[in-house]
Amino acid sequence: MALIVQKFGGSSVADAQKIQNICSIIARTYDAGNNVVVVLSAQGDTTDDLIAKASEMNPHPSKREMDMLLSTGEQVTVALASMCMERMGYPSVSLTGWQAGIRTSEDHGCARIRKVAGGALRRELDKRRIVFVAGFQGIDRYDEITTLGRGGSDTTAVALAAALKADACQIFTDVDGVYTADPRIEPTAQKLEEISYDKMLEMASGGAQVLHDRSVALAKRYGIVLEVRSSFTGGPGTLVRQIPAIGTAG
Ligand code: ADP
Ligand code: ASP
Ligand code: MG
Repeated sequence: MALIVQKFGGSSVADAQKIQNICSIIARTYDAGNNVVVVLSAQGDTTDDLIAKASEMNPHPSKREMDMLLSTGEQVTVALASMCMERMGYPSVSLTGWQAGIRTSEDHGCARIRKVAGGALRRELDKRRIVFVAGFQGIDRYDEITTLGRGGSDTTAVALAAALKADACQIFTDVDGVYTADPRIEPTAQKLEEISYDKMLEMASGGAQVLHDRSVALAKRYGIVLEVRSSFTGGPGTLVRQIPAIGTAG
């Protein structure tokens, strides 16, 4: 049985209807005979709203308390999505980052994933449950909640795909693939069928939001092929993978 990791970003889970939409995508993947691990972001502008709420309390909150606050956004989404899945008649469970075994460095606000203890996830998958994991968060060696930096749910998805040796890692978002430039800013940008890890890393490090730069670095290190595709329209997206240089015979 294949294992597929699917990640859906904030605009793909912004309201109840959108959560129902992604649950249909997940159900199709499950019905095709796959095990499915789903990483979700906070809904819509939730993370920005939480940052604004924090500043009402304290213009300089501690990073520890910020992580405590921001990690709640993703937890809301996974619980709601799992409830939706249950209602559709599918076995499912939602997990926080720490319940999913994601251990990180102690750098609040920009923690790095050090290890994924995959036991709990595997036990849930063995029960044929769809497992929803809160993106963007983990726990450090002092059992403090950490977050991975803005856009970090992509990195959660790749880390889980690597740890569980997943057969595919699909990043669903609000555009239908990676373009030569941000298609919302540059209308003549072209969609790419595929892009190398190195080129994608260059774009992500240069600020292209479509993938978190650390997720691309991690995918390259573990040879995880990423498929960036739309939550709203069908069809193939963009593959991010090793692209061998054209042969230079002679
Ligand atoms: P998600 O919430 O799904 O993680 P993001 O907002 O983080 O989505 O990333 C998707 C956005 O990235 C797109 O809406 C698009 O405006 C932007 N983007 C920037 N550069 C690119 C690019 N080269 N190709 C595709 N999208 C890009
Ligand atoms: N919710 C976090 C953010 O808005 C993480 C993510 O969406 O990947 O940056
Ligand atoms: Mg993102």
